[in-house]
Amino acid sequence: MEHQGRHALVTGGGTGIGLDIARALAAAGAEVTISGRDLARLEAVAAEVSGLHPLRMDVADEASVRGGIAAAAEARGPVSICIANAGIAEGAPFREETLAHWRQVMTINLDGAFLTFQAALGTLGRGDWGRMIAISSIAGLVGLKNAIAYTASKHGMIGLIHGLSEDYMGGRVTFNAVCPGYVDTAIAAQNIASISARQGISETEARAHLARGNRHKTLLQTDEVTGAVMWLCSDAARGVNGQSIQIAGGQVA
Ligand code: NAP
Repeated sequence: MEHQGRHALVTGGGTGIGLDIARALAAAGAEVTISGRDLARLEAVAAEVSGLHPLRMDVADEASVRGGIAAAAEARGPVSICIANAGIAEGAPFREETLAHWRQVMTINLDGAFLTFQAALGTLGRGDWGRMIAISSIAGLVGLKNAIAYTASKHGMIGLIHGLSEDYMGGRVTFNAVCPGYVDTAIAAQNIASISARQGISETEARAHLARGNRHKTLLQTDEVTGAVMWLCSDAARGVNGQSIQIAGGQVA
């Protein structure tokens, strides 16, 4: 029960990677606020797992993030573990990219992480312990074909982590990014459907195609991301700060 008595926030905590992290933090004793736009789904998940608390919060909306995190902190205390995980991964080739779509991806993935960290840090007192973790991607380290906005937003999240680790250097709060390759979640399912449609291949072939995007040619499972996050949240990782941890079956960058 390493995190007993701590309040954690996982944005996008009702599905996929975020939900797996939220479950692990709750199992380690934390009270975990899980946020997203789909309150019914969050409530259904929280009804099944003790220690999870649903919060409707749209990371693309400043008032929603500031108000939501303030209310969660009021209910459960300062947000000492904050996982900026909410994101979308819709791609488009550069020549077809529109400013509206670019802005949507940047607003959710990058502005959302900025607002989340700023509001969460605002709940901590001077000298408090904390762990701020961004779920970036291998697209935060190398270019991903046909996903220009996603690539830029995920690179931006790593820049945010680098900057924050410098701003708060010497304190008890660390800032790190986790960079998964292709993980078997709803985002992967979306990717598989679009590869299948674009290339005229079966879903099984499209799944194998996506898996080949990982260095070990296997789709990752959510627990592999959770394991890295839990280590970064541990006391043993207190000296790990400003890092980007690759989980992609091999070296990407
Ligand atoms: P997912 O199940 O689709 O999770 C995305 C989550 O983000 C959902 O819970 C969604 O909740 C939330 N979200 C999206 N837009 C939001 C908004 N405007 N405000 C608040 N919440 C929002 O897919 P996932 O694979 O677990 O993705 C989680 C993170 O991992 C993403 O940042 C993604 O880029 C990153 N990642 C995924 C992979 C992969 O291959 N799966 C690889 C590398 C990185 P609501 O719909 O309720 O809002």
